[in-house]
Amino acid sequence: MIDNKLTIALPKGRILKETLPLLARLGIVPEDDPDSSRKLILNTSQVGVKIIIIRATDVPTYVEYGAADVGIAGKDVLLEYDGDDLYEPLDLGIARCRLMLAGLAGNQKVDGRLRVATKYVNTARNYFAEQGKQVEIIKLYGSMELAPLLGLADQIVDLVDTGNTLKANGLVELQTIAEISSRLIVNKAAMKMKQDVIKPFVQGLAEVLEK
Ligand code: AMP
Repeated sequence: MIDNKLTIALPKGRILKETLPLLARLGIVPEDDPDSSRKLILNTSQVGVKIIIIRATDVPTYVEYGAADVGIAGKDVLLEYDGDDLYEPLDLGIARCRLMLAGLAGNQKVDGRLRVATKYVNTARNYFAEQGKQVEIIKLYGSMELAPLLGLADQIVDLVDTGNTLKANGLVELQTIAEISSRLIVNKAAMKMKQDVIKPFVQGLAEVLEK
């Protein structure tokens, strides 16, 4: 895709809400309201600049393959993503939280290998491998907090913001695995071939963040 246009991939939800005001300060405003529109590709106030709205975990894929030139993704998604063809030039400092290891309050006796439930399978595996610990990782797609309560797992790896969800389910923070915030990612080929569009975009965003 060699043209002079810019396609920006954004994930639905909290990151989208916090990113739109930043883009607006660069003069990029979607023509349709992303909350009510069913369109997946939104034209913007700037000719040739499009926004696509997709699942958070798909953002790195679209950007790595060049279907989108740039994207915004949580560091949690990037840590988990199994690819390396992305630039990550900016920390937007939004949607901040921590990726944590958590478990039931009190000393729990573990028979045999520790079982850890998470949707962050790769990140959890790397984390325990670095510590030389052999654990059994159980993949879940949501409500990780439930797993220790029902004996499905001993511990979980999940995002924690206020800590209220853990607390409400009798779980405690055990260890911080990573500090999380949203990052701008850029397709490597686009960074070279579309410098004239992408450089000012990255610079503009950096300036907006400094103010
Ligand atoms: P909290 O109760 O504030 O600690 O929030 C924890 C719940 O919100 C967990 O289910 C997390 O998966 C989710 N969560 C917290 N922060 C974020 C974030 N920045 N992005 C997406 N989900 C989050």
